[in-house]
Formats: sequence, structure tokens, C-alpha cells
Amino acid sequence: MTDTRVFHRSLRHTPSTAVRGDGVWLFDSNGRAYLDGSGGAAVSCLGHNHPEVRAAMHAQIDALAYAHTGFFTTEVAERLAERLVAEAPAGTSHAYFVSGGSEAIEAALKMARQYAVETGQPQRQYLVARRQSYHGNTLGALAVGGNAWRRAQFAPLLVDVTHVSPCYEYRDRHEGESVAQYVDRLGQELEDTFQRLGSDKVLAFVAEPVVGATLGAVPAVQGYFRRMREICDRHGVLLIADEVMCGMGRSGTRYAIEQEGITPDLITIAKGLGGGYQPIGAVMAQGHIVDAMARGSGFFQHGHTYLGHATACAAALAVQEIIARDDLLARVRRQGEGLMARLQARLGEHPNVGDLRGRGLFQGVELVADRATRAPFDPARQLHARVKRAAMARGLMCYPMGGTIDGRQGDHILLAPPFIISDDELDQLVDRLAGAIDDALQAQ
Ligand code: PMP
Repeated sequence: MTDTRVFHRSLRHTPSTAVRGDGVWLFDSNGRAYLDGSGGAAVSCLGHNHPEVRAAMHAQIDALAYAHTGFFTTEVAERLAERLVAEAPAGTSHAYFVSGGSEAIEAALKMARQYAVETGQPQRQYLVARRQSYHGNTLGALAVGGNAWRRAQFAPLLVDVTHVSPCYEYRDRHEGESVAQYVDRLGQELEDTFQRLGSDKVLAFVAEPVVGATLGAVPAVQGYFRRMREICDRHGVLLIADEVMCGMGRSGTRYAIEQEGITPDLITIAKGLGGGYQPIGAVMAQGHIVDAMARGSGFFQHGHTYLGHATACAAALAVQEIIARDDLLARVRRQGEGLMARLQARLGEHPNVGDLRGRGLFQGVELVADRATRAPFDPARQLHARVKRAAMARGLMCYPMGGTIDGRQGDHILLAPPFIISDDELDQLVDRLAGAIDDALQAQ
């Protein structure tokens, strides 16, 4: 048992105590510095302790920390929504503010369902999502997620969701199969799934434009999302893009889906929206969804106490204003290229690095026992967990993940440093990561 009263994820080990942050660095109570190479879990886009975000939060708290949305809107929530809508894909009309990613997914699923009911399609009830995805830990979000390990013991409590293949080129595109043929194959699978469930009974297809917490930054191949959109359109199925991790500039554009040239019906965002300064997430909704509810029952049958929390909105507004003012998306693209170049140079030929991938400052390293066969390591070795410990010992936070996922084992490391990371800090990140991988491998 831990010797603290905080219920930590591990009940056996108490983590170090974080006491201070400064830019890309976190410091613990022993004075040790950690380079935040993963932005926590792809959260801290502006780094830690940004003075302007702190000032904006202080000003909001001094005026009004919180007002319940059952009684009021607030200027700060309206300003944030206006900014987000203006920057979102064409047709987006509203932002629905919640407190995090899982809540955003829950709200999106219920919005999709209510839209179906309000538009005279109450028979639409089936959800389709992808294996090896993560959409959150509340029961609805966990059901949609395709991570067998996370779902296993809660399975009896989960609504039935049909999972199709992810778009995971490194492992799933067959030898000799072109990208176009791979897209055809995945498209056919979705088409067949919709047909099997009943074309008019499917409610929504949920997917992460760049897979994050299960595979470590896996973008789809070119043309994949266009095909998925076409198939959804043909069957009247809503497309929900989960950008909780890859959105808000992390992949080099405000929304990762912009790079795919399609428009989802609903987009969920969180993490980088508030940059960790406050818990906040949102559903960005297309006008036709909101209109249907406005014309129908006139309200969205959902709600939480902290919807549109004023201080959280103030933090997010400041974060998003700074990103725009300082042109940080261009910086994400530039530093992202720098990160990939360093990873290639340092790890590209490493015998246990199978794949380096990602977009912007959202990149992943997949470790393998054998590069030629792409054979993963024995899950019993828990290599990813060893990399995490070795990295912390070297003063680096990275986000390793792995274990047996849907019967397939893998060791993945996600990198998602703050957008403000410098060249020198990128050097240190890759240096420490390469050292940690070797430490972990040698410790076997
Ligand atoms: N969706 C995705 C794509 C995520 O990566 C996450 C969190 N890792 C969530 C949803 C859930 O977000 P939260 O942890 O804020 O509930």
C-alpha cells in the first residue's frame, strides 16, 4: 500500500511529488528537473506556469470564478466559443464545454443519439469504432474505445459497440498492397459492418484522426478518412472525430482532421484546449446537429455541474489566444520536423526501433524485438514500463504504452512536448530517450 491518502493509480508505489513547473520543465520535491517530453499526456501545449495564462485566470477568479450554466452564460465562455468556432472546420456552429475528454465523448455520443431521434431516425442506435483506440474511461467512452485490456473487467457494464480495424499502416498494410488498396480494404470492412448492423440502424462512427493513447501517434494513410466520410454519408451515419489528444494544434494544424480534407459532424477536444491550466474539454458541433435539436425539443438533454466553467474557459481562452498570437502552430510544424529528424538520426537504425511516426509535435516510437519480422517483445518483459522508469531516472517524461492490446502486443512511446520547446531541449529530449531505451533493454 502507498503511504499517502491520495488514491493514486498505483496503490503500491507513491510517485515523486511535483512542486514546480517552468516552461518544458517540471521539478519534484527533491529538486530534480524533468523535461516534459510528453506534455503529461499530450496536455501541456504551452508548457508550465505561463505568466499570461495565470494572469487571465486570476482576473477571471477576481471577477467571477463560476456561474452555473442553468442560470447564466458568461462573457468568457462566449468569447472562447466564438474563437473556437471561427477556427474550426467550416459548418461548425457551436462549442459545448465540459471538463475533459471522456465527458466530451459522452456528450458527443448523446448529441448524436438525440440528433437521430429529433430527425425521425430513432432506430439508429449502433455505434461503430475502431480496435486499438482510446476514447476515455467513463463507461460510454470505455465502450467505444477498442483497448481490450482497459475494457476487460468492465465488459459487463459496457454498451455494445462494434469495432473495426484501425488504420495502422506499419502492422496492417499487407506486403505488396498499395495505400489505395489498403484504404479499399478498410473501407469495405466499414461498409460490410454497416450492412451487417443494418444501414439505417447505425448512429455514428467514432475515430481518432491520429491515434494517441493506444499506439503512440499513428496517423491514417492518405485517403482513409475521405473514404470513411463517404461511407458514413452514404449510410447517413454521423462521423465523430475524437481529437482530445491530437487536436488543438498538436499535429501541426488546429484540428488534425484538417489534414484529411473532410469535415466530421462532431469533434471532441480537451487536453491542449486548456493546456493543463484547468480541466476543460468541448464538443465542436456542426450547425445541422444543433439546428435539429433547436427546432425539435429545443434543448440538449444532457448536462454537468461544471459545464462552461468560467475559470476553465478563461484559462483556455488565454492558451488559445497565445497560440494564435505567437503563431505556435507554425512552430509545432517546425519543431515537429526537428524532432522527427533527431529521432531518425538517433534511433532510425536502432535494432529495436521498428517505426518512427507522427505529425507535428505528436510522435511515436514503436519498439520491436526484431526489425525485419517486426516481432514485438515478450509482453512479460513490460519493456514500455521499463522505458518509463529509465526515462524518469534520466529526467525525462515520455508516455510509454503497451501490453497486450487486442491480442497483439506492442511497446510504444508517445512524445508530445510543449509547443514552445527549443532546439536545445529537443536535443536533450532525444538524447535522454535514446539513453532510456538502451537502459531498459540492457536491464532485461
Ligand atoms: N479521447 C482520447 C483520444 C484521449 O486520448 C483521451 C485521454 N487520453 C480521452 C478521450 C479521455 O480524456 P480524459 O482523460 O480527459 O477524460
